[in-house]
Amino acid sequence: MKTHPDMVPLNDFRAQWHDIGDAAIQAISRVGASGWYVLGSEVTDFEQALASMWGTAEAVGCGSGLDAIEIGLRALGIRAGDRVLTTPLSAFATTLAIVRAGGTPVFVDVDDTGLVDLERCAMVLREQPDIRFFVPVHLYGHAIDLQALQQLRDSFDLKIVEDCAQAIGATSSSVAVGTVGQVGAVSFYPTKNLGCMGDGGAVLTADDELANAARCLRDYGQSEKYKHTTLGLNSRLDEVQAALLRDALLPRLDSYTAKRRRIAERYLADINSEHLVLPVVPNESESVWHLFPLQAPSGRDRLRQHLLAGGVQSGIHYPITIPDQQALEDVAGVMVLDALVRARAFASTELSLPIHPFLNEEQLDRVIEACNSWRP
Ligand SMILES: *Cc1c(COP(=O)(O)O)cnc(C)c1O
Repeated sequence: MKTHPDMVPLNDFRAQWHDIGDAAIQAISRVGASGWYVLGSEVTDFEQALASMWGTAEAVGCGSGLDAIEIGLRALGIRAGDRVLTTPLSAFATTLAIVRAGGTPVFVDVDDTGLVDLERCAMVLREQPDIRFFVPVHLYGHAIDLQALQQLRDSFDLKIVEDCAQAIGATSSSVAVGTVGQVGAVSFYPTKNLGCMGDGGAVLTADDELANAARCLRDYGQSEKYKHTTLGLNSRLDEVQAALLRDALLPRLDSYTAKRRRIAERYLADINSEHLVLPVVPNESESVWHLFPLQAPSGRDRLRQHLLAGGVQSGIHYPITIPDQQALEDVAGVMVLDALVRARAFASTELSLPIHPFLNEEQLDRVIEACNSWRP
């Protein structure tokens, strides 16, 4: 098939560079001149800026979102074989972090928002009170219902790591994601709403003991230089990424989020095909629209081809549910408590439209026209 000469891309990092380039070069040059490249004042300054933006006491920079979840679980004291309730519909990293931390994933189905079904979680926790850990995911940039999450935490004395990789800045009834669980984990992978120019992540917490444990774990498990109190990781945010994040990206996050929200509003108002199901947002979620997940039950893959022919890239989040991934076949004890009817429906029908902050009006019109003109 011929590709369109002027494709609407799913992400546009060159447009972002045009926006941030000057600030980014200054930040990089400052780090270069400082002669200090790992775990220095840039990381500390960025951690403070992130924590204060988030409204939480502590942020601990680390190597990736994957590591942030693992470090969070380990800081919370997970032990080998502990069961961890989680969602079957997410980036594989969510479950990978649980397994790497020694946990055993327990999957329940999602609801019609695509996020883990909290009512179902409550039932499971009543039946299996030995489950003490929970990793919910604020998927697509939607905040899961945080009042319901708080109730689960209180009723079952849960230790929670909220996977906020897709949802930095999202709130539920004005409460920030990542603040109901003892730990929030975030990723700065380039495609994320706060994306750096490489890999990065952070652990957010209000608890300074957890923050100290995370600082120790990210740096080989040393509590002070050459004194190793636990077996840690090499998962340090570097000075260049921290400087970029603080100077070039964090100051733009609000305006990028506002732009994503305007695009979502436009799609919700103007995509009106009877063949498409628009995203359903959780109760009380003020979403940050990391993705715009449509469902096309009458033929997602053909819709994708149709969009491509009309000059529109799209994504799939995610084509395979996590418990169906081959990598989990050899992991002992994995529990799948539901038939995962809804998660599997997402896997076979979901399609993500471009929603990055650099889309222009003409591109938006094209996306909407391509969606509305599709006939299965
Ligand atoms: C991206 C992502 C991760 C992993 O983050 P990395 O920085 O790529 O390791 C984890 N969970 C979710 C939901 C993600 O989208």
